Amino acid sequence: MANTVKDAILRGRKTVETVVEGGLDTVETVVEAGLNTVDAVVVKGRRTVESAVSLGRRTVESALLGRSTMQAAVLHGREDIRIEEVPIPKAAVGELIVRVGAALTCGTDLKVFRRGYHARMIVPPALFGHELAGIVVEAGDGVTAFAAGNRVVALNSAPCGQCFFCERGQENLCDDLLFNNGAYAEFIRIPARIVAKNTMLVPDHVPLEHAALTEPLACAVHGFEDSHAHAGDTVAVIGGGPLGLMILHVAALAGCRAIAIVKHDGQVEAARQLGAAHVVQTASIRKAIAETRALTEKNRGVDIAIEAVGLPDAWQEAVELVRKGGTVNFFGGCALGTHVNLDTNRIHYSDITLRATFHHTPAICRRALDMIAGGRFQAQAFITGHAHLYELNRVFEKLMKRSSEIKTAIVP
Ligand SMILES: [Zn+2]
Ligand SMILES: [Zn+2]
Repeated sequence: MANTVKDAILRGRKTVETVVEGGLDTVETVVEAGLNTVDAVVVKGRRTVESAVSLGRRTVESALLGRSTMQAAVLHGREDIRIEEVPIPKAAVGELIVRVGAALTCGTDLKVFRRGYHARMIVPPALFGHELAGIVVEAGDGVTAFAAGNRVVALNSAPCGQCFFCERGQENLCDDLLFNNGAYAEFIRIPARIVAKNTMLVPDHVPLEHAALTEPLACAVHGFEDSHAHAGDTVAVIGGGPLGLMILHVAALAGCRAIAIVKHDGQVEAARQLGAAHVVQTASIRKAIAETRALTEKNRGVDIAIEAVGLPDAWQEAVELVRKGGTVNFFGGCALGTHVNLDTNRIHYSDITLRATFHHTPAICRRALDMIAGGRFQAQAFITGHAHLYELNRVFEKLMKRSSEIKTAIVP
């Protein structure tokens, strides 16, 4: 009996142990199987979501490209910009359609906004804006250098390559300079000649809004190089607008002792940041001349003076800033019909070289983009604000009030 009981107990324990043991395995197996299932479901779910997002994005993109109209700024006259729905351009032979990534405001655009036209560049009603970089969405037949998806900067003009001046390498003076406007828009058409001569790929590490500085920087580099400055020369730049500051920065980067002559408080700080050795701030031309000359040995005057204002008084001021044998560059263009009085004796007997640099050439545009990509040029310092296309009127009104803004990136 006892044996029977004991056997029964032992059998019962073993049964329990077997059950427990088998059960644990079973539970673990079940749990494990469950976990695997959960993992698989999560992974599958994630993949499904990802492909849905990707598909959705592609659908949105193709829907965008399938559109036939876009938002664009149209200049109708003096201080009259309207954001309108206009047809998205189509690429003809040799042309590109670029989706604008950033379009920068510019002193020239501000002048055009104020005057309502530009004799050479724009006659209203017209699309507006000319400093841009973006992504190619369509390449016309015959385009081999660029394809959809490329990040590019397209300049505002291109020379003909065939006239007297182009053949002499003075493409900035081309008899048939072709201008392009329409950067303040979602898309812009780049004419074949600009695609062929003045459109460049933007390196991956360069933000599009920095690449859009290529055009003004090319003008600044041209003005500086034309002034034949050497490292160590004292270079005075009159004017603290975007181009004045850019020339100042280029001079400082080239190892010159750069003096900024500016009017407004905001420009003082910007000039210092961009490498000015001295900043002269005064509204009086007499004082500016005296203070700048006092910064040179024996009040001799600066080696080079670059005028970047575009006013007759500033042209005269530039001539009075330089030393004997110095160079003046009348870089700022004055209004049509402007005349200046210059001291001919001073110019002749002091042997002063007068230059007046205009615009840029394809080779200089490439150097400007290289400079932006190179890292020493402080591109971000020139872009002091961002705004949407529909805020364009407000942005120009603000620029007219001479705020401390240098350039605003318009992001459509
Ligand atoms: Zn410009
Ligand atoms: Zn030409």
